[in-house]
Amino acid sequence: MVRTRFAPSPTGYIHVGNARSALYPFLIARQNKGQFILRIEDTDQSRFVQGAEDLIYDTLNWLGLNWDEGPYYQTQRKDIYLKWANKLIAKGLAYADPYSPEQVEEFRESAKAAKKPFLFRDHRPENPPTWDGSQPLRFKVTDLKRYHWHDEVMGDLSAGSESLDDFILIKSDGLPTYNFAHIVDDYEMKITHVIRGQEYISSMPKYLSLYEALDITPPIFAHVPHILAPTGNKKLGKRDGAKSVTEYRSEGILPEAMVNFLAQLGWNDGTEQEIYTMDELISKFSLGKVQKSGARFDEQRLLWLNGQWIRHLDLDDLYRRTVSSLTATLGRSASPPSRVSSLKTRRDSNSPKMAVSEDTSKYDFWGPAAQKASDTERKKVLAITQDRLKTLADLPSLTEYFFTEPQPNWPMIDDNKQLSKLSRAEQIKLLETAKTDLAEADFDSLESLQDNLNKLLEKTGQKPAILFSLIRFALTWAPFSPGLPETMQVLGKDNTLQRLQAAINFAQN
Ligand code: GLU
Repeated sequence: MVRTRFAPSPTGYIHVGNARSALYPFLIARQNKGQFILRIEDTDQSRFVQGAEDLIYDTLNWLGLNWDEGPYYQTQRKDIYLKWANKLIAKGLAYADPYSPEQVEEFRESAKAAKKPFLFRDHRPENPPTWDGSQPLRFKVTDLKRYHWHDEVMGDLSAGSESLDDFILIKSDGLPTYNFAHIVDDYEMKITHVIRGQEYISSMPKYLSLYEALDITPPIFAHVPHILAPTGNKKLGKRDGAKSVTEYRSEGILPEAMVNFLAQLGWNDGTEQEIYTMDELISKFSLGKVQKSGARFDEQRLLWLNGQWIRHLDLDDLYRRTVSSLTATLGRSASPPSRVSSLKTRRDSNSPKMAVSEDTSKYDFWGPAAQKASDTERKKVLAITQDRLKTLADLPSLTEYFFTEPQPNWPMIDDNKQLSKLSRAEQIKLLETAKTDLAEADFDSLESLQDNLNKLLEKTGQKPAILFSLIRFALTWAPFSPGLPETMQVLGKDNTLQRLQAAINFAQN
């Protein structure tokens, strides 16, 4: 049974890199009809951020990465780590660290001064005190050998003993380090594949030495490449414009597009295919096709994918995602996580350094005037703007004029190369003719509206680029809009005639 896990630390927002670290193990689990486990690695209390756990659940739910087990909290598993620590102590493979943090810092400084790498094992005490929990508990590395191992992404790797050391297993606050806890947990949770960021590769010899000491057969490892900033060769950082997944969501990115984008950050199946549904990813994803070198972060690609996905959805589905009360997560979404009730009280006693939270009203994408319109009216507008949306956040600028009379903006006409060839009087004359003729038109039929417009061309002897642009501006005062007959039909006859008149009045003054 394949069992993979996502093991985030609740230290703030979920960034694209974190989300990718959830997606890949999720895909592997689903592909193998296995299980996906959520483990909250909350042992570093100094980095704990209030609300971060909820963001993890919300983000996973939104992306459709439903977990089968958990969330487990490391802070609630102290007994388990202690049991394993005692095994090591009994074997003489763990000892109490008698030094103060200042002393350890001095060792570090002197190594630096001597231009040597700092190794705690060089200072290993001869007669350490009995461990009473008040000192850090350290691993005693005994076999200083070279390790060779296989990585599903990076291939065959090896590293010498220089990276082996007596690292801390349990801190003086009684909580385990990541180095110790993840190995115990992965074993206890029967994890078969550890999929995580490349930054953990350099610690692999340490982990392998601990697996040996604990008599644990290591799982399969896959270290995925760094995500690189849009330019240059450095890792993607906060300053490179990458946002949290929540922010992308509030900017109108669809979860399908985000998943599609994340999957391809470092993976492709060797074909030209660009759009992948979750089901396709589940069948096609493979760790063997994840690239070794850094994956370039390209936000434009995310926007492009999002536009593709918006076009791909049927109208009702798309509409559902534009209104906050109905904010859509992917269909497959998990039921809400089962919370551990003692959690809140435990958390409240902490003093978090900051808090993050989620405001779902930001997932309503319609503008203020549209808010007052009915679902039916908004759907009509959505139907004719769907093709133009890059993100759901484009809705107000692309649709508000349907719901509220736009402010005439005559410079739009004056700045238009074609329209500015006409005098104001000619422009007014054209609008008047259009108004008179359209008053007779049948707005129920797009064909007959188009027919009316064509007749207007003949009658006025104008080019479409002039006549239709002029009418379009008078109706929308927007730089872009759907086709003219579609726009007029959704506005309705009364509105259309009224707006033409408003433009005429405005031009006359
Ligand atoms: N808590 C670690 C992190 O957020 C997990 C790494 C792992 O997947 O083992 O980076």
